[in-house]
Amino acid sequence: MVNIVSRVWAHADSEPGRVAVRSPRTITFEQLRETNRRVAGAVRAAGLQPLDRVLFIAPTIPEFPEVYYGLHAAGVTVTTMNVMSTVPEIDYVLDDCDASLVIAWHECAEAARTAAERRGIPFWQLDPGVTIEAEPLMQAHEHEPDDTAIILYTSGTTGRPKGAELTAGNLVETVDSFMPVLELSDDDRFGTALPLFHVFGQAVCMNTALAVGASFSLLSPFDPVKMLEMVRADRLTTLSGVPTMWNAMLHAQGDFTPEDFASLRMATSGGASLPVEVIRAFGERFGCTILEGYGLTETTGAATFNDLRREQRTGTTGPALPGTVIEVRDSTGAVLPPGEVGEVFIKGPTVMKGYWNRPEATASELVDGWLKSGDLGSLDADGYLTIVDRVKDLVIRGGYNVYPREVEEVLYEHPAIVEVAVVGIPDDHYGEEIAAVIALAPGHETTGEELRAWAKERLSAYKVPRVYSFVDTLPKGATGKIQKRAIDKDALLEIARA
Ligand code: AMP
Repeated sequence: MVNIVSRVWAHADSEPGRVAVRSPRTITFEQLRETNRRVAGAVRAAGLQPLDRVLFIAPTIPEFPEVYYGLHAAGVTVTTMNVMSTVPEIDYVLDDCDASLVIAWHECAEAARTAAERRGIPFWQLDPGVTIEAEPLMQAHEHEPDDTAIILYTSGTTGRPKGAELTAGNLVETVDSFMPVLELSDDDRFGTALPLFHVFGQAVCMNTALAVGASFSLLSPFDPVKMLEMVRADRLTTLSGVPTMWNAMLHAQGDFTPEDFASLRMATSGGASLPVEVIRAFGERFGCTILEGYGLTETTGAATFNDLRREQRTGTTGPALPGTVIEVRDSTGAVLPPGEVGEVFIKGPTVMKGYWNRPEATASELVDGWLKSGDLGSLDADGYLTIVDRVKDLVIRGGYNVYPREVEEVLYEHPAIVEVAVVGIPDDHYGEEIAAVIALAPGHETTGEELRAWAKERLSAYKVPRVYSFVDTLPKGATGKIQKRAIDKDALLEIARA
């Protein structure tokens, strides 16, 4: 019998006045439990039963954990979505998971209300301070380990969003696997601006921080200077983010001194590949290591991590987390030896139960407990995983495989470049040609010609981008990951033809 909320509530028993949420307002573990109990009571009073689905939409604010753990306490299955979701997107999810209740933060309530009304299901608007009046539910529902605790929608490797069913067991296993690896304790002070609807913010950062009894500082929306100010004001020990956030903080202006970051033990990064140059420069400016990990929604955000207790290998995403096994396989399914690149497969206690109501998709992505990741990578002799790229981002130019990430790493070393995405564009002669879309650092200038020469000195000729496009900023998804799919390839083709 498990429930992540029991882990969080345990700290209200042992030390009621301990701080659970530190920014932007303080909430103790006891206060958090009290609100959770009222939310759970209201959900039950509305007639919902354990494992009924509830859609919850809110940004990275204290009200998120106040409602989220209340829903877990009631035993319902929680689905979360991006605060920017549109009516058709919400409609799709409500229909897919057959939700019986929608709860949304007032600032992003409109689309959710419209979608809920259309389906004729109750809608609760959440206003600041969660003023739900209900008889509290004192005992949290106890799940069976295999009960679906959350359903997170993801496109996975292909197709329309599918709901990854993550069980009560998955959630607790994720927390338990990160705790020793990051040497976490209740002395830690976590901070993040990651969206909490996504697995990384929710199941990795929030659940781990609060289950361990650490405090959690929240920032919404992400702003590099505000993030650094929060580190200083809350004396954070652990910061979690995606590569674009580290990069933005690195280039942030402000009167920060190394002492401001003295409390910071580590920064944890995942969600996308982290250029080695960013790790180096971040360490230089803030005196703090960025530890990289790798995971998917389908693995509850957890698969590998650069274990603090072991040697750090920069540029790798670290070894498998405790209990998890990683294999690299070729296209025939044969397991490859260390050093060879193939598709990454993952097996372990954090791997999802399956996709909600999608037996075919589940059967094709999850075979004998092994999850097909859609990512290309290689293991070294000690089991450290390097993610090379996504299978679908691989560019094949003139018969040669070009991994965009390798080219991006080289361009990131150029002082004028803040962000870069390398993609393939159709080419009559080579099948595909390589293009780089670049955002420059303020006050810097360069040309495609100069960058080409830079790349040529460092890469084999067939990997050097031929097309260079300069933009103010690159398209990003909700977590801040650069979205290659959203890059305008027609514009790149125009440049190629010019
Ligand atoms: P999501 O399900 O939204 O969490 O996305 C999972 C995908 O993010 C993975 O399949 C990878 O393509 C990518 N990803 C996560 N962590 C890393 C990492 N450390 N390096 C490279 N790609 C990553």
